[in-house]
Amino acid sequence: MTSKGGKESDALRRAVGAIVEGLRFYDLANAAVAEVRVKVAFEELGRRKREQLSKLESVAGPTAKDAAVMPGIYPMDAVAKVECYVCGYVAETKAMPSQCPNCGAARYAFEKEIALTKAWEIAADADRKSAVVLRASAGMAQGRTRDVLEALAREEEAGANEAAKQLAELRA
Ligand SMILES: [Zn+2]
Repeated sequence: MTSKGGKESDALRRAVGAIVEGLRFYDLANAAVAEVRVKVAFEELGRRKREQLSKLESVAGPTAKDAAVMPGIYPMDAVAKVECYVCGYVAETKAMPSQCPNCGAARYAFEKEIALTKAWEIAADADRKSAVVLRASAGMAQGRTRDVLEALAREEEAGANEAAKQLAELRA
């Protein structure tokens, strides 16, 4: 592999990581919260990540996910685990129990409260950081790969602006 090819595949691994991390985050966030408007926001944000991933896979290949390098731009700790508010039992969000195995509380005892403003704050911040990762990756890529990465970076910048707008409206 030439050094240019190596650089480009490194760049792709980071770009795929930024998108895959977002997808994982929004899926977990969606599962962890109960409030409908917040759930809908996370669902929509997750849907966008899924679309971005398929665009990226059109140049990086369907197995690119396996080599993804996660940039750590999403607050995964806030959503990876859920805690029973009755007894404090901790469970993985992706395996949220329908009943607390320790105290028997119903599923809602595990649901997290994340404010809608917090959801848009996370999205604005993550999209901005993700845009930086994608721009840097585009700078190391060529041809169609570069075009796709640049288009995704622009999408993330637009996403950050949109999230900031939602946030401003909520705070008005
Ligand atoms: Zn419990």
